[in-house]
Amino acid sequence: TAPRALTAPVDRPTVSFELFPPRNPDAAPKLWATIQALESARPDFVSVTYGASGRTRQTTRQLVRRLLRETSLNPIAHLTCVDSSREETTTIVEEFLDEGVRSFLALRGDPPADAVDWHPHPQGLHTAADLVELLREIEGRRCAVSPAQAVRATVRPLSVAVAAFPRGNHATGGTRAQDVASLLAKQQAGADFAITQVFFEADAYLGLVAEAREAGVTIPIIPGIIPTTDPDRLLRVQDLTGVPVPRALLDVLGGADDETERHRRGIRACVDLVNGVLDGGAPGVHVYTFNQHRAALDLLEGAHLGGSGEARQPL
Ligand code: FAD
Repeated sequence: TAPRALTAPVDRPTVSFELFPPRNPDAAPKLWATIQALESARPDFVSVTYGASGRTRQTTRQLVRRLLRETSLNPIAHLTCVDSSREETTTIVEEFLDEGVRSFLALRGDPPADAVDWHPHPQGLHTAADLVELLREIEGRRCAVSPAQAVRATVRPLSVAVAAFPRGNHATGGTRAQDVASLLAKQQAGADFAITQVFFEADAYLGLVAEAREAGVTIPIIPGIIPTTDPDRLLRVQDLTGVPVPRALLDVLGGADDETERHRRGIRACVDLVNGVLDGGAPGVHVYTFNQHRAALDLLEGAHLGGSGEARQPL
């Protein structure tokens, strides 16, 4: 059965996970064990990242295909505009649709590792909003429903998510105002919901949501949460994203006597963050798993969160 689009509202916080394709064939069995463990949390969806410069495009497809065939999970395929003409991007989308994928996270993407600035492909798309627009065009062509179906339909054939940035997008140097303008443009192009970049203080997320609402953004904005159990990983994420890890959090983790205690402290801090955003009205949480299940599942248990339990149902 093809998954339905993730567009209808639910009356509880949604739970979802981000995965990345295995870096090499040896990593695949471990990832698969992780996926099976994550499946037990009955997430509403899992998103699969898409590498720059074509490096993991095929592996994204392979993982998404396997998720569709062998699990009850509802995959969202990340897509970027990097290094592809509009025609090539159209072909990639068509291939995903042929596999049965109905949900996408539309991103502009970062420049390839060897490039500093973003330069669109000469015949390519310039922004994530362009990609959302292209997805809606393809949807119109490929997934057109009859007028009778359209009247009954409560969800669109495709669901399209986009990125949002509580602490500004370090990679583009965009200001908060530009990021909010970009989010509004993505909504106007047809995005259904947004998922945020990592952040470590609830106020960063709540501030972004307040500014976005003020600007006219109405789509759900799901906070992206990294389990804060591994200080080395947090510092790597800080380098990569430019989102500063609070000194107090690093001190709490650094003061632990052993790994078990550090994990416990990290989960407690992260549960506080999750409670802070949910109390402030967040529609759910999207957990950056780094392809590991233990911290993600401990976080959900600590925050008393679980998914729908219903495979491939609309959000
Ligand atoms: P856009 O929304 O197009 O924005 C790009 C820049 O243009 C920003 O500075 C923005 O402010 C500006 N801009 C765009 N439109 C407007 C406008 N109308 N008005 C003013 N300014 C505007 N990257 C990958 O390569 N692969 C992945 O799988 C991946 N997954 C991600 C998942 C999440 C949840 C997030 C948050 C990011 C992810 N990224 C991924 C990173 C993302 O591709 C980069 O952060 C990229 O730099 C910006 O992408 P975007 O979709 O936000 O771009």
